[in-house]
Amino acid sequence: MEQYLVTARLLDAQDPLASFRNEFYLKDQTIYLDGNSLGLLSKRAEKSLIGVLNSWKEHAIDGWMKGDNPWFYLSENLGNQMAKLIGAYENEVIVTGSTTVNLHQMIATFFQPTNQKTKILADELTFPSDIYAIKSQLELNGLSPEKHLIQVKSQDGFTLKEDDIINNMTSDVSLVILSSVLYRSGQLLDIKRLVNAAHERDIIIGFDLAHSIGVIPHNFQESKPDFAFWCNYKYVNSGPGSVGGLYVNNKHFGKAPGLAGWFSSNKSKQFDMKHTLEHENHAGAYQIGTPHLLSIAPLIGSLQLFEEAGIQNIREKSLKLTDFLMQLIKEELEEFEIINPTLENERGGHVCLQHEDAARICKALKENEVIPDYREPNLIRLAPIAFYTSFEEVWETVKRLKHIMDTKAYEKFKNEREIIA
Ligand SMILES: *Cc1c(COP(=O)(O)O)cnc(C)c1O
Repeated sequence: MEQYLVTARLLDAQDPLASFRNEFYLKDQTIYLDGNSLGLLSKRAEKSLIGVLNSWKEHAIDGWMKGDNPWFYLSENLGNQMAKLIGAYENEVIVTGSTTVNLHQMIATFFQPTNQKTKILADELTFPSDIYAIKSQLELNGLSPEKHLIQVKSQDGFTLKEDDIINNMTSDVSLVILSSVLYRSGQLLDIKRLVNAAHERDIIIGFDLAHSIGVIPHNFQESKPDFAFWCNYKYVNSGPGSVGGLYVNNKHFGKAPGLAGWFSSNKSKQFDMKHTLEHENHAGAYQIGTPHLLSIAPLIGSLQLFEEAGIQNIREKSLKLTDFLMQLIKEELEEFEIINPTLENERGGHVCLQHEDAARICKALKENEVIPDYREPNLIRLAPIAFYTSFEEVWETVKRLKHIMDTKAYEKFKNEREIIA
C-alpha cells in the first residue's frame, strides 16, 4: 500500500488541473467522492450567485435587461456556453427546467404515436424518475405503459448491450430514451452507434446526460441525437436544485413545444402578449415559464471553470483518477467486486463497488470522513472529481477503507440505507 503513495504524489505533481482544487470549498480531512450526486460549491459559483442577487438589489425589474448578465438572455447565453461541453452548435442548447421536467417536455414534443409506431423504448436499469415520466406521458396519450413501454433487459444486472438495445428497436417503436451513462454501474453507452441504429429505423432517440455532462465530452455535431437533457447539480457543480439543460438537434428547429408557455416565445415577440404563441426557432422554444434565476446564477461561475480547464482535460484526469482507484482496489481490497466497465470508452466518472455490507460500509466511510454514496441493493459509488480530488486522496480513501475492512469497523452499523442515499 505505502509504495503507491509515491505514485499518487507523482501523479499530483504532474496534474495540469491541480490548481483548480483551490477554487472549491473543501473541508479539511474530508474526502468528498460524491460529486456525481451533488458537486461542491466553487468560489466562482458563489460569486456569480451573489452577482445576480446584487443585480436584483441594484436594478430591480430592470435586471432583465441590465447588469453583467441580463436575466432575459441568460438561459440562451449559458446554453451556448454549455453547447461546448457536448460538441453541439449554438442555439441547440438551452438552460432550463430539470432532468425530469425536460424529459417530459421532450416526450410531449417528440412522441407522436401513429397506428404503426406507439411504443417507447427505455431500459430496466435507468433512473426511476425517467421511467415515471415515460409512463405518465404514455398514459396521457391513452396508452398503457404495460404494453407500450419496452424496457431492454440487462444480462448481468448492471450493464446493457448495445446489440440488445438495437434488437429492441422494432418497427412499432416511436421513441428511444436512454442514459448516456448508467447511474449505478457507470456504463457509458455508444451514443453514435445507437443514434445511427435508431435513425435507420425511423425512430427518434434522446439521451439523459445526468451522469456524463461535465465529466465526459460528447460530440453531438457528429453523433446527432434528436435531443438530450440533464441536471447541472452533479458534475457541473451548480448547486442543489440548480436549473438543468436541454439539447435539441437543429434539424428539429421550428417544431412546436409539446408543453408551451410564454418563455417558449420568440424573444422579440414575447411581450406582444398575444394569445397565439410564436415560438422560438431553436432550443429556446422548449422553455416554459420564467427562468429560476437564483438557481441558474451559480452556473455562470461554474462554466467559467469548465472554460478554463477544458472538458477534454477533465475527462483525461477523471479517467486517470478512476484508473488509479480501481488499481488500488484490485490490489488491496479483493472482497469488493468492481462492477463498472473497465474499458475507457465504456465507463463514466465513477467507480462502482459491490459488497453485501455496502450500506454499513458507507456509514463507516462517512465516520472516517470519506463521503461515498450508496445505491440499492449493495453498491458503493465513488466519484473522484477532476476539479477537486487529488490522487493522494484516492490513495487515502483506499487506505481508510482497508482499515475499515481489516478492523470490521462497519459491523457496529446497521446494514440499511439512510433516507437519502
Ligand atoms: C440525477 C438524475 C435524475 C434527477 O432528475 P431531477 O429532475 O434533476 O430530479 C434523473 N435521471 C437521472 C439518470 C439522474 O442521474
